[in-house]
Amino acid sequence: MTPEQERQARRDIIIKYARLYVRNGESKPLMCTPSATDHIARTVFGRHMGSAGKIIYPTREAAESAARAMTELQPTSPQRAAICPRAGMTHFHLTHDLPAERAQRRQQ
Ligand SMILES: [Zn+2]
Repeated sequence: MTPEQERQARRDIIIKYARLYVRNGESKPLMCTPSATDHIARTVFGRHMGSAGKIIYPTREAAESAARAMTELQPTSPQRAAICPRAGMTHFHLTHDLPAERAQRRQQ
């Protein structure tokens, strides 16, 4: 698979499972952005409240399906679903599955 094909495959997975919005007739994934509270926490306490700009998956099932598809596409970088602490924990993101990655490295 060429890098361009891989990018397209990743895009297809995101479009299939992520929460989307349509702009100019094109579907785009909705991103999770820091809330005002996150900004205050960062400036007042110097605390980082999770990374910004993560793709939103509407359900655990959608995020888990996307994680499986992404892991299949790139087995060296396993992904898993994680609930987002923002917005009342109403959506999910993908995150690196570090235990799976470590287990994989031990097997090699
Ligand atoms: Zn989020």
